[in-house]
Amino acid sequence: MRLKVTYCILQISARYVCSVLKIFARVIVSKIRLLSDHLANQIAAGEVVERPASVVKELLENSLDAGATRVDVQVEGSGARLVRVVDNGEGMAEDDVLLCIERHATSKLGEERGLEVIETLGFRGEALPSIASVSRFILVSRPADQEAGTRAEIRYGKLHGVHEAGCAQGTIVEVRNLFGNVPVRKKFLKSARTELHHIEEVIRNQALAHVSTTFTLQVDGRTTLDLPGRSSLQERFYDIFRCHDHWLHIDMQDNDEGMQLQGYLLQPDTSSNKGNRLRILVNGRPVKDQMVRHAVVEGLQGFLMKGQGPVGVILLRTPTQLVDVNVHPAKHEIRFRRSNDVHRFIAAAIRSALGEYQDKVRSDLFTLPKQEEPSQLEKNTQVEKPARPKQEAAPASLFGRKQTFTAKQAVSNKLQSAEPEASFATEKTFSTEAMARIEPVAIDVDLAGLTIIGQLFDLYLLCEKEGKLILIDQHAAHERILYEELCRNYLERNIPRQSLMFPVTVELSPELAEMMEKRGEDIEKLGFQVQHFGETSWVIKSVPALVSHVEPADLLVDSLEILKSVKGGEVAKGITPSVQSLLSTMACKAAVKSGNRLEPREMIELLSTMQDSDFFSHCPHGRPVIKTFVKREIEQWFRRT
Ligand code: ADP
Ligand code: MG
Repeated sequence: MRLKVTYCILQISARYVCSVLKIFARVIVSKIRLLSDHLANQIAAGEVVERPASVVKELLENSLDAGATRVDVQVEGSGARLVRVVDNGEGMAEDDVLLCIERHATSKLGEERGLEVIETLGFRGEALPSIASVSRFILVSRPADQEAGTRAEIRYGKLHGVHEAGCAQGTIVEVRNLFGNVPVRKKFLKSARTELHHIEEVIRNQALAHVSTTFTLQVDGRTTLDLPGRSSLQERFYDIFRCHDHWLHIDMQDNDEGMQLQGYLLQPDTSSNKGNRLRILVNGRPVKDQMVRHAVVEGLQGFLMKGQGPVGVILLRTPTQLVDVNVHPAKHEIRFRRSNDVHRFIAAAIRSALGEYQDKVRSDLFTLPKQEEPSQLEKNTQVEKPARPKQEAAPASLFGRKQTFTAKQAVSNKLQSAEPEASFATEKTFSTEAMARIEPVAIDVDLAGLTIIGQLFDLYLLCEKEGKLILIDQHAAHERILYEELCRNYLERNIPRQSLMFPVTVELSPELAEMMEKRGEDIEKLGFQVQHFGETSWVIKSVPALVSHVEPADLLVDSLEILKSVKGGEVAKGITPSVQSLLSTMACKAAVKSGNRLEPREMIELLSTMQDSDFFSHCPHGRPVIKTFVKREIEQWFRRT
């Protein structure tokens, strides 16, 4: 019995020794090892800290997550020598100061809610340890309920001391000699100007997303950005862009699913086509997102010129469950969970903002100004002006279509006017080419405050209103009006057609014949009536009425060519890019041309149709229809101010 027990014990011990030896051997032989925290941090830094601006971005995010209402950023040597961020946020107690520089330590993610609901800018818990592993890093912090703060110093990932320190409530992070231990990385930094530009962009983006927070930036001791906390996006926007005009303002729009959108986009005639200058902020986070950009472009369809990209800022808020922010280590990218809904919402919001913009242009152009009591000064300095009989006799309704008007009457009105400037129009001695052309149609009838002066270069309607000179491109205006009408009719399958008295037979190339078979339905919807006549021949029986002046065979061939050649582009309002292009070509062919001398009646008719149209400010290719010069600007040309 004893022997048996001893034997068993020996057997167990032998087995134990064996397994210990095996483990030991595996450790020595195995090629896979767990990385030290230091190395892991440096690897994370490779992704998170690309340049000084990334440091600023991460530190700003932390300050904002800590509820700071003021964040001051200082940089030296374009950020590589020093980045210092001071905030007045909630601060940290000593334990937290020690923890925050540990890898994967965060106060922003709870086990129970996990990654589903992230409401903070940070959540990965790796920014501070990553930055600290590639710099000389000092963090000083104090929460509101403690008298003394804590200071921790880390040099290239190694803790160099923690002690008590006096400081204001909040947190100061100093990052010196960035990439001092990774010289390769340092070499990749661009010029000081580029690095500073990136830093400024980071601050501007966060400032747009956090309007009520004050942000400042000092570069080598000089303040270069000073953005006081504001109560509205509009004020913040003006602080940053310093330009009040030329913006399409997207007022806050929302939907039932809790999405909200607001922003500013540069109007197309002022937009640049230089790359990607659309800032996209989703739930306060600046991101790069092709889907959002695409939705903005689609919303702006017919408002951007060819090759032009949207410029401005879009602030989108969605319920947090709708976005996955855990896509990119630097959190530049996100993924939408129901991207089609988001796309639709953005495009519709932008279109509706465009509609409001049209209303504003319309009211600027066609609304009678409020009669204001002249100020005392104005009364004293006013030159006696004869009353304008037309304006007083028939005010706002004057612009209605029923208004009868003859050139003769207009000219006689002009002559009746005793204003000294008016006489120039009849002075033969001033008849330069342009003047001579304007003169015969010179009219002075006020149309809801808009006076048509005449037609310039047989292309522009010259108008005057409330101290503004307004030029209207007759072709672009008419083209847009017809285009919108065609789009509506196309969607309702109601494009007016004109039957040909003598049907025309057309011989199509094999490619176009194939197109004809493929897109026959579109061709019908566009107002053609065609019949196959064997092989590649077709008989045209009707053509779209608007372009019935064009030779029918050419019209059909051109249309098929367009359907065949247009690729890419955005489907807008349910119309494919190739049909859009066809409709705009049709509108272009049917519209009044440059060189068409218009009768005064026709000018009034055109303006009146503009007034009734939903969209008229830009032609279908995005070219502007209206150009305004304010009196002051004109006075400056002549050095009168
Ligand atoms: P994350 O922001 O992803 O949580 P960080 O490494 O950036 O990771 O920061 C770690 C933690 O340190 C944060 O979760 C936060 O609790 C704390 N912290 C960092 N910066 C600040 C700050 N400026 N004010 C208050 N707490 C901060
Ligand atoms: Mg963070």
